[in-house]
Amino acid sequence: MSNTPELFWGLGMDQSRIRNFCIIAHIDHGKSTLSDRLLEMTGTIERRKMKEQLLDTMDLERERGITIKLQPARMSYRAGDGVEYQLNLIDTPGHVDFNYEVSRSLAAVEGAVLLVDSTQGVQAQTIANLYLAIEQDLIIIPVLNKIDLPNSEVERRAEELMKLIGCQREDILCVSGKTGQGVPELLEKIVQEVPCPKGRHDRPFRALIFDSKYDEYKGVVAYMRVVDGVVKKDEAVKFMATGHVGQALEVGYLKPGYVSTQELDTGEIGYLVSGLKNIEAVRVGDTVTGQADETSVAEPLQGYREVRPMVYAGIFPNEGNEYERLREALMKLKLSDAALQFEPEHSTALGFGFRCGFLGILHLEIVKERLEREYDMQIVATVPSVAYEVTLTDGSSKTIKSPLDFPDASHLKESREPWVKVDIVTPSNYLGNVMSLVQDRRGVYKNTEYFDAERAVLHYDMPLSSVIVDFHDKLKSATSGYGSLNYEFLDFKPSKIVRLDILVSEEVVPALASLIHESEAYRYGKYVVETLKETLPRQMFVIKLQAAIGSKVLASERLSAYRKDVLAKLYGGDRTRKDKLLKKQKKGKARMMAMGKGKVEIPSDAFIRVLKRN
Ligand code: GDP
Ligand code: MG
Repeated sequence: MSNTPELFWGLGMDQSRIRNFCIIAHIDHGKSTLSDRLLEMTGTIERRKMKEQLLDTMDLERERGITIKLQPARMSYRAGDGVEYQLNLIDTPGHVDFNYEVSRSLAAVEGAVLLVDSTQGVQAQTIANLYLAIEQDLIIIPVLNKIDLPNSEVERRAEELMKLIGCQREDILCVSGKTGQGVPELLEKIVQEVPCPKGRHDRPFRALIFDSKYDEYKGVVAYMRVVDGVVKKDEAVKFMATGHVGQALEVGYLKPGYVSTQELDTGEIGYLVSGLKNIEAVRVGDTVTGQADETSVAEPLQGYREVRPMVYAGIFPNEGNEYERLREALMKLKLSDAALQFEPEHSTALGFGFRCGFLGILHLEIVKERLEREYDMQIVATVPSVAYEVTLTDGSSKTIKSPLDFPDASHLKESREPWVKVDIVTPSNYLGNVMSLVQDRRGVYKNTEYFDAERAVLHYDMPLSSVIVDFHDKLKSATSGYGSLNYEFLDFKPSKIVRLDILVSEEVVPALASLIHESEAYRYGKYVVETLKETLPRQMFVIKLQAAIGSKVLASERLSAYRKDVLAKLYGGDRTRKDKLLKKQKKGKARMMAMGKGKVEIPSDAFIRVLKRN
């Protein structure tokens, strides 16, 4: 490639030497490990400071061994042509619940390394992420990973990739993120194939915010891709959508720690600290620009499409007076979790809290855990549910995000539930298992495609509610761990939805209410009361547990009383003394009930057990 100034007229000095790319793959195919090798081989991280999956910077990611957040890192690399290149890598998560992180990363780069584990082959998220990259017109570099493993099947997996992408065998690189084999070739290929950024250095500054973060010392940090122009430290900046104006107190790049610089130029990926106190000033998808005069204002960049939450759950502080702190925590958390949505909610049982929207159950779990760890909050999460649409008898329609808002049967004309398009990749010998699992969950078969005689992709339409809860686990066990899943929103379809109430000691527990398809109400109701029976601590009195639709009880259980052994200290003695003590105990219990002490406190682990629906 030539670097003559004529050719790059209007481009910054070094723009032709920038390569921005993502690594995308199915979960566990080795993205973060390959990133380690890239950081190591480019000398970005000293060998002695190297640790496994270095770019998984959150404690939670390290403990669980999964990537939750996108993570940029800049490397400097002297290529075979003797030129020093600036490589900006973004590592991405693979789980479907964190897909929004992937799509935002893809919008900030020109190329994507599509990584496939050569022992596993193409999986559902490989396909889903590839399509996201193609939508962004990115250059795709297909790579087979884990070739050091004895069960690696390079030629067979290469065939799959060729079929999927329509590439040639020689386009596919083979690497090991573990041993580093093939990684030098990959670096060269990135330099040769990923185009340099196309923006114009001589235009007014504008950058796309693709992520943000709350830092205790710096305040709000925006991660951005400079599209045109240059931003210098201390210059005034403006966030176009929110209209907030601030100053570039600090600019720089990630390595993956912060490295501050004097400026960020066209095509670079970096961060900006603007010192704005208002957390809401910085929004992912917004354009940052210089605060130039009216004549040279920049056009806002195309942002991201709004995320559509897949599940909703209420999040309440354990202590009523912690509401404000919870709000603050959610706002800060949202900075680094753009897919999280929330709005205030009030429940008679749980007080003031928030109705939150998530991309899936794992997302919900992660948010809950982050609130607890990073913000020291004690919270209760209610049973997650999808959103439903209803039409009332007066002709009006609304979206229902909480079971408590579900209209009375007498006012309800029609209910609709969300459906998704589901793709399942599985070895062919499990096709039967997968089909019966899907049928059991109201799935509608579409068609099957084959990679080869032994592996297939099944396409279904399914109600979202059948997919979100434990479908993934069930699919794994139905396919001995080989099956993988992707789904995306399709449409709302008419469906008979009912509200299932759970009663403990004849009182409705609002936090356990759920909306469910009529055909599944009995099975689920039975499951909840049985789970409660196992998890609730016994009391001095019998607890009645019931699942009901309106006044119709579908399932019920009794948790017998724990009887304090009032006779323990009584040796011998006559019958009348025993009877007297037992009678006294009975009277005490009756008094407790009368005084309302028969109320049952439901411990949060009981909620969680029910929530998990194992
Ligand atoms: P990610 O989810 O795509 O980021 O995958 P990780 O990088 O976290 O890797 C998942 C697992 O595969 C980890 O246990 C890694 O140690 C392992 N792994 C990744 N790359 C290789 C490889 O090239 N060879 C071998 N043997 N194991 C690998
Ligand atoms: Mg990872």
